[in-house]
Amino acid sequence: MSLANGREYLAIPGPSVMPDRVLRAMHRAAPNIYEGAIVDEVAGIAADLKRVAKTESNLAIYIANGHGAWEAAMANTHSRGDLCLVLATGRFALGWSMHAQGLGIELDVMDFGKSSDVDLEQVAERIAADTEHRIKSVIVVHVDTASSVRNDIPGIRRVLDEAGHPALFMVDCIASLACDDFPMDEWGVDLMVAACQKGLMTPPGLSFVFFNDKADRLRDSANCVTTYWDWRPRAWPQEFYQYFGGTAPTHHLFGLRAALDMIFEEGLDEVFSRHATLARAVWAAFDAWGTEGPLKMNIADPSKRSNAVTALSIGAPWGNDVRKWVEANAGVTLGLGIGMVDRSNPSSHGFFRIAHMGHVNTHMVLGALGSLEAALTALDIPHGTGALEAAAAVCAGR
Ligand SMILES: *Cc1c(COP(=O)(O)O)cnc(C)c1O
Repeated sequence: MSLANGREYLAIPGPSVMPDRVLRAMHRAAPNIYEGAIVDEVAGIAADLKRVAKTESNLAIYIANGHGAWEAAMANTHSRGDLCLVLATGRFALGWSMHAQGLGIELDVMDFGKSSDVDLEQVAERIAADTEHRIKSVIVVHVDTASSVRNDIPGIRRVLDEAGHPALFMVDCIASLACDDFPMDEWGVDLMVAACQKGLMTPPGLSFVFFNDKADRLRDSANCVTTYWDWRPRAWPQEFYQYFGGTAPTHHLFGLRAALDMIFEEGLDEVFSRHATLARAVWAAFDAWGTEGPLKMNIADPSKRSNAVTALSIGAPWGNDVRKWVEANAGVTLGLGIGMVDRSNPSSHGFFRIAHMGHVNTHMVLGALGSLEAALTALDIPHGTGALEAAAAVCAGR
């Protein structure tokens, strides 16, 4: 017997669950890429992506995953030998910095560990010490998908402003866009990268670089940029094909159009509230389980947690065992722990992550938590009681 048959739930932090409506929008014949629906729709898609990011900045779209947007962002704004300040809080700012290094950009890495957010005082000291303004850019992730921390983006902006430092402020919102509010312009972010497969609920394959005019001025002198990654033809195309540097990603665009429609039909702020409430339900369950036994959320302070993903430790081999149990017996796929310790280290089996991003609702989240309760019971892992009641109470508005 398997209790896993039925609709599966992919609760890894990206790609996220694809709505049937997105899939249906993609299930159609190839369109003409020279005129007609696809050509007409792109301007509206670009405008709606800017609405999600609450920005009037410029947008370049790449047929690439998030790593492509990372490279594009760096290439258009830097020259070889420039210095980039990397604020690392898990894994993803470090991943981004590898792309910078590959382009010949120098790195100054401040690593705040695997369970903390960026410490603004330390950044302020580092920025104040840079009296000659050697630092050309500051990179950080809004939500680090490995640690599930959410960084204080307006706080980092304030640090730069108070020091009068001109560095370009670049933020990775790949895990957070359309899950956590990110008012790019209000927060003074110069450049932001995102991708379509997380909060935007579309299969992986499109990524986005939002950039303001200050960032674009750096493009004038950036010698890392190459023809394909140049954002100018993409942001200001003379011909339709230039949006994408070639053939348009036709079916991704149909899917993304449907996803954006769903977001705006629900209401952007309602989407954020749904994520915030479902995240609190998840945390309430883990708080209760954690009162007895080894299960522990990676980020202790709820105000610093992502609303899209929660990272946990439970000790090896239980992290792996729990994931395998819910996949085999409940049809729920959880994310493995990444970036906490090296994969070759046996203690890496002591972590897991649960995504609550994108197309998720009460029954999916409570179902995943109920499945986890079953796993803890089946595997004889000590845990506190009352987790499911606590999560249900949050969803009930209590
Ligand atoms: C998923 C993710 C990435 C990488 O995106 P890919 O599409 O896999 O290249 C980068 N940064 C963050 C914060 C992410 O969550």
